[in-house]
Amino acid sequence: MTYPWHDPLWAHLDAYLIQDRLPHALLLSGARGLGKRRLAKAFAARVLCETATACGRCGPCRLLAASSHPDLIEIAPEAGKPLTVDRIRGLIGRLELKPQYQRGRMVVVESADQMNAAAANSFLKTLEEPAEETTILLLCEMPGRLPATILSRCQHLKLAVPPARQALRWLQDQGFAAELSQVALGQTGGAPLAAKQWMESDLPDRRRRFMETVEKLLDGRHDPVLLAASWQEEDLSHLLTWLQTVTADLIRLAQGGGERLLNPDRRQWLQTLACRLNLKRLYELWQRLLEMREGLHTQLNQVLLLETLFITLHRLRS
Ligand SMILES: [Zn+2]
Repeated sequence: MTYPWHDPLWAHLDAYLIQDRLPHALLLSGARGLGKRRLAKAFAARVLCETATACGRCGPCRLLAASSHPDLIEIAPEAGKPLTVDRIRGLIGRLELKPQYQRGRMVVVESADQMNAAAANSFLKTLEEPAEETTILLLCEMPGRLPATILSRCQHLKLAVPPARQALRWLQDQGFAAELSQVALGQTGGAPLAAKQWMESDLPDRRRRFMETVEKLLDGRHDPVLLAASWQEEDLSHLLTWLQTVTADLIRLAQGGGERLLNPDRRQWLQTLACRLNLKRLYELWQRLLEMREGLHTQLNQVLLLETLFITLHRLRS
């Protein structure tokens, strides 16, 4: 089963089959939390099924359901690691064999943008000399990280973040409250599955505590230096996300916008605050947060970094 926001791309994939012009290599890119893997598997099921419908009853469909179809090859890097040349060599070895069934073969490469240079070189050969009756489906979040030589050999399909209303409706259908869902979408760039995962974790609670802290800081009821020490254990990328969404909302409100806020549960506080803040400093904070996000992996001293951030926040008031 695909998700409702897959429909436009699904129609596109469908057209390849109907017109019998399935490319050798497809690149499916999109943000985390949009269900790229699910879409790829659904498409593979459609291609490999004897009746091209993912009927669920034929031999190939049963093999797929048991994750043992020999003509569906999936490769992915280990969590948090690059996709290595060993995996690609293993794939090449398997592609030398003929497909077992009549429907051709599907290869799904997850996190293709995590290929290291050796893996990419090796992979390029499989694109230059495509195996028989084989379609390779590359999945990735950041297609710009793929070498141009690989990009140019793939048909690129982009899975877009759904319109806010569609994402919200889907989350509500899953049983989540409207306001929390809106907050979650604001935290996850609008990706519904990432928003769902966010709500199911302890992040809503951690964010709420952080927001209360920032409120006190901006009311002058907290010392920025002491505060930095007390938040040193929190994941810096979460702290940056929280602050970025607050800053974005404040800028929006200060400019007279703000029908749609990323933090709708804090609207009243944000509105009061937006009238009092120095807009120029707000932009400086925004810039600083972007720079920190860029250098996220090189930040060694989190306390020092937080001190700088909290002092900047504290000074927003004047
Ligand atoms: Zn079937």
